[in-house]
Amino acid sequence: MSFADLGLSDELLRAVSEAGYSDPTPIQRQAIPPVLMGRDIIGIAQTGTGKTAGFVLPMIDILSQGRSRARMPRSLILEPTRELAAQVAENFEKYGKHHKLSMALLIGGVSMGDQVKALQKGVDVLIATPGRLMDLFDRGNILLTGCNLLVIDEADRMLDMGFIPDIEQICTKLPANRQTLLFSATMPPPIKKLADRFLTSPKTIEVARPATAASSIEQRMMRVDSRKKKDALVRLLRAEEVRNAIIFCNRKTTVRDLATSLKRHGFAAGQIQGDMEQADRIRELDRFKNDEVSILVASDVAARGLDIKGVSHVFNFDVPWHPDDYVHRIGRTGRAGRTGIAITLVARDDAEAIDNIQKLIGTKIAEIGGEAESPPEAEAATAEPKTGERRRAAERPARRSRTKTSERDAQSDEPKATPKAPPQRDREEPAARAPSPRAPQERAENSRPAGGQPSRRGRDSQPEPADEGWNGPVPSFLGQGFGG
Ligand code: AMP
Repeated sequence: MSFADLGLSDELLRAVSEAGYSDPTPIQRQAIPPVLMGRDIIGIAQTGTGKTAGFVLPMIDILSQGRSRARMPRSLILEPTRELAAQVAENFEKYGKHHKLSMALLIGGVSMGDQVKALQKGVDVLIATPGRLMDLFDRGNILLTGCNLLVIDEADRMLDMGFIPDIEQICTKLPANRQTLLFSATMPPPIKKLADRFLTSPKTIEVARPATAASSIEQRMMRVDSRKKKDALVRLLRAEEVRNAIIFCNRKTTVRDLATSLKRHGFAAGQIQGDMEQADRIRELDRFKNDEVSILVASDVAARGLDIKGVSHVFNFDVPWHPDDYVHRIGRTGRAGRTGIAITLVARDDAEAIDNIQKLIGTKIAEIGGEAESPPEAEAATAEPKTGERRRAAERPARRSRTKTSERDAQSDEPKATPKAPPQRDREEPAARAPSPRAPQERAENSRPAGGQPSRRGRDSQPEPADEGWNGPVPSFLGQGFGG
């Protein structure tokens, strides 16, 4: 089935082909026709499946009929983070280039005045994070009575961040006969309840998780002594054909320490974690995207929504506490037709976590040469490198990072997983573990209590909760509040 079979307009088909896409992804195939017919949709799909275009494309055709009115957006897309909101806005720019649609982005960290000006002109598409939207609504700057199309994206993420009460409020302010599209990677009971309450006879579409579907990701794991994880990582970074890599850690402090340590070892490494200012994170991501650094050490907040082309490797320095996070993390490589390698370092204490991950993805992850005892050269690798070594090491990733994208794509000589090695018995201290999965980091990195109804007053002066890594070029409208 091609895009032309989905009922989209010629202008849109032109924009899609100019974007370089020839075949719709499964979520696009299943979602676009019913959305065009005006149906409500529950899309169980994650980032990486092409779900954004799954709602952006039909929305553009639907909105091309009709005109916007001052302060009355015609459609509303709710996103949990400003980065995801900006990414959706980029999609509208990309696919809507042959249409005359106006768009406003309501997110924290951007001047409210400009956003209000954009709204006053009237917009076809309003993309917002719930907090900022409610702020502007409370101030009387938005009327949602003309908003006939609502998208609730990443609903389970919204739940994690305590946005559900806001979303419920927002839903009640829209016309009851609107069209509603809800996307979520999982369907926990509160999301199911939300869908039952606010969607009308929805069509449910479920697509395979990218991790299970994507044979483009070669997954490996390596058993390590928890005290020697850094050594193992350094060895892997030197041994593997690492063009560029995202390295995930479970804690912000680990992100900081590891990035510093890798730099000391001569690697061109950057970092992104929830404690950093938005501008700093964007700068770090840009450095990674522009190949100024070839390694990005990241916490999970960066895992969702990151869409960086051509990431050759993902390393899990820590096994994620929550199996879903594993899927999100490794989905940063092997994207959109490219191949990628995901390597997870597994300490003895991670046995249960890795077991849960393998259950979730429904496959055994291939083991590669684990070492309970590091060989002497590994010890040497963690020692402060000598000047010459430091230079050589520094050059290696930098040289690779200069490879052009087109050349990268042509490379197909990625190393294959070595045959399964018997598990090694580590002798190690049990690592300090968080009492419950996921919650510690989420809470620490988000400024809003999960499930709570945060105070609305002065919201815009607070940092946007749950900051994810914005991966795209910063769209021109991000600073001005509107575009399109
Ligand atoms: P999403 O799941 O919306 O975050 O999209 C994941 C990635 O897939 C993005 O880089 C999109 O640009 C890309 N993409 C979207 N639709 C297609 C398609 N039909 N074919 C190939 N790549 C696509």
